[in-house]
Amino acid sequence: EEDKLQRILDQVADAAFATADKGRVADYIPELAAVDPDQFAIAVARPGHPTLTAGRAQKAFSIQSVSKVFTLAVALGKLGDRLWNRVGREPSGQAFDSVILLEQEKGRPRNPFINAGAIVTTDAVLEGSEPKEALAAILRFVREAAGDDAIHINDSVAQSEIATGHRNFALAHYLLSHGNLQHPPELTLGTYFHQCAIEMNCAQLADAGLFLTACDGAPRMVSPSRIRRINALMMTCGHYDGSGDYAYRVGLPGKSGVGGGILTIAPGIASIAVWAPGLNRYGNSKLGTEAMQRLTDLTGWSVFGAA
Ligand code: GLU
Repeated sequence: EEDKLQRILDQVADAAFATADKGRVADYIPELAAVDPDQFAIAVARPGHPTLTAGRAQKAFSIQSVSKVFTLAVALGKLGDRLWNRVGREPSGQAFDSVILLEQEKGRPRNPFINAGAIVTTDAVLEGSEPKEALAAILRFVREAAGDDAIHINDSVAQSEIATGHRNFALAHYLLSHGNLQHPPELTLGTYFHQCAIEMNCAQLADAGLFLTACDGAPRMVSPSRIRRINALMMTCGHYDGSGDYAYRVGLPGKSGVGGGILTIAPGIASIAVWAPGLNRYGNSKLGTEAMQRLTDLTGWSVFGAA
């Protein structure tokens, strides 16, 4: 069985390396614009099994918005359902950094995975804490989930976004104008940009997602009912305006980041990380999405059925 899964991963990686159109790397963050698009990795973690990989699974990348899953878990742990007073739970159908709905909905972002909603979620983690402590709490959660204290933040990626993230500053100021930001924008965004600048390789990211599988033997970081709900949000909102497309192709809850990483959960089965820096038109990893589609076709892991 182990061998069969390894063969599937090799097949998925071969297909990715053979694909001519690798998408386009995010160029609005200078540090990410410099990444070579011709890279691919995939890793599958299951409790009680070695984490299987194919491609460049030891190469660290910027997890970017995949971090929003961990921050959401930390925020829910800290505030519980009080978080939902400030952010919704509906897909936005808009780009990750869109400001349109924020205006229409008076500063209450649609969900915690679009940038506006993630900024509010980070702001909530900052409640009653120093920025250093809040960031440390997020990093501690990630390290504990992955069982790896070597996971770190790439400060030059964070600085690169602090210097150029005008749209995120606009979102933060807009939230503030509606009374939905409790800290100065520079402070909340400083924390948000550093959280996005966490680096991991595919094997570490797959391990870090195990707590969301609810498998026996997975780290117990949050309650089963919260796991269920985080997965629901990943399924409906985890790929921005490409969330429907990801559900259609892959059929599993996932969260993407503009660094080209995607964390996908096969509930009760496995945590899967994939990385390929080139993005599709929604800002999600192009080869990563295609690889996940191939993986669920070959394994039958979609929550909607095996065929
Ligand atoms: N740090 C990125 C931003 O705020 C995250 C976006 C993403 O990964 O989708 O623009």
